[in-house]
Amino acid sequence: MTTADIVIIGGGPAGTATLWTIEQFAPGTRTILLEASGSLGAGSSTASLEAFRTCWPTHCIAQQMKRSIEVFLNADDYFGDGASRALAVKQQGYLFCGFTEAQAASLKSDVDHLYSVGMDHIEFLDTEEVRYRFPWLGDKLIAGKFDPVAGWLDSNSLINLYVRNAPNAEIRFNVEGVKLVVQSGKVVGVQSLDNYISTPCVVIAAGAGSRAVGRTAGVELPIVAIPRQSFTTGWRHDGFNAGGPMVIGAAPSPHVHPEAHTGAIFGWEYGWNSRQHTPDHVQHALETPDSPASTYKDSRFPSITLALLARQFGHRDGVGFSSPNYLRGVRHNAGYYVRSM
Ligand SMILES: Cc1cc2nc3c(=O)[nH]c(=O)nc-3n(C[C@H](O)[C@H](O)[C@H](O)COP(=O)(O)OP(=O)(O)OC[C@H]3O[C@@H](n4cnc5c(N)ncnc54)[C@H](O)[C@@H]3O)c2cc1C
Repeated sequence: MTTADIVIIGGGPAGTATLWTIEQFAPGTRTILLEASGSLGAGSSTASLEAFRTCWPTHCIAQQMKRSIEVFLNADDYFGDGASRALAVKQQGYLFCGFTEAQAASLKSDVDHLYSVGMDHIEFLDTEEVRYRFPWLGDKLIAGKFDPVAGWLDSNSLINLYVRNAPNAEIRFNVEGVKLVVQSGKVVGVQSLDNYISTPCVVIAAGAGSRAVGRTAGVELPIVAIPRQSFTTGWRHDGFNAGGPMVIGAAPSPHVHPEAHTGAIFGWEYGWNSRQHTPDHVQHALETPDSPASTYKDSRFPSITLALLARQFGHRDGVGFSSPNYLRGVRHNAGYYVRSM
């Protein structure tokens, strides 16, 4: 039997960040991380757009993001020389787009609210300003909400940096059948198919698998896992250059940011938020998903996303987002997006 002060279940960004934080603030803590698959970051981060932003309307999330961004932007200080290069942070902003007077008013009201809670770096861009800064987005765009601190990074590198900087922690791969063991209302250990770890403290960071792990201790975590898709292209249209921001269309919010030298990565949550159009076999919210997220990949997703962006930005006849070049060599992914109920 092994003993540990803390057992972390799940080796994605959340589990590995927890590992690193424990080692930073409580060195000497005996920590074991259990990962179900054969590698770290095997969950939804494989489909993620790897983007971060500050403009969250709730104080607690905004504070968490502020702290995360502080770490991302000073990676060499936190993780050692070379970390910033590995993380490759692109701080190119998020542009939320408005195409109608109602959408412009809504963006303005968001920015006013964010100002009132101290986020005075978020900008409202009126028609003249948004067209001046982003002329390549065209004349249908009449307003923007811009978060200049937002950006994206290499989340796989981030996971590796967390782990490399927690050298005293033990990491176990291919751990199956994890169950929490509870006695007199307290966690006392973690049982897996072939091992038992005695521990008074467990962190559940299993992404879409978290609810199932919690249930083994009689705890019902109030989260759902929603299938989401993304795709990467090797091509971008003229004007949408490598220094461009994350562009977020109006509802249902298709979004895209430049990726690598010549490509782009696209995403949005479609389909499952309307039961009317949902195939019977797809549930709106999945509490304990038991099939791989790839089950929900819809081959029409890339063309639907591009058509949506082309319609919102008024691109027609093979121009801009309606260019057929986007659909050559698409890499299509799906993952579970976990959120509170
Ligand atoms: C299409 C898409 C786009 C996204 N875009 C963004 C974005 O731009 N920015 C952003 O911040 N977020 C984005 N997300 C969400 C992002 O994926 C998550 O924020 C992030 O990956 C969550 O990290 P996590 O560690 O909680 O979970 P995961 O990355 O899912 O990691 C969970 C880990 O736990 C392991 N595990 C599961 N069950 C068990 C078990 N029983 N025992 C042991 N190990 C287990 C898994 O194998 C996995 O390695 C996106 C998600 C999707 C699907």
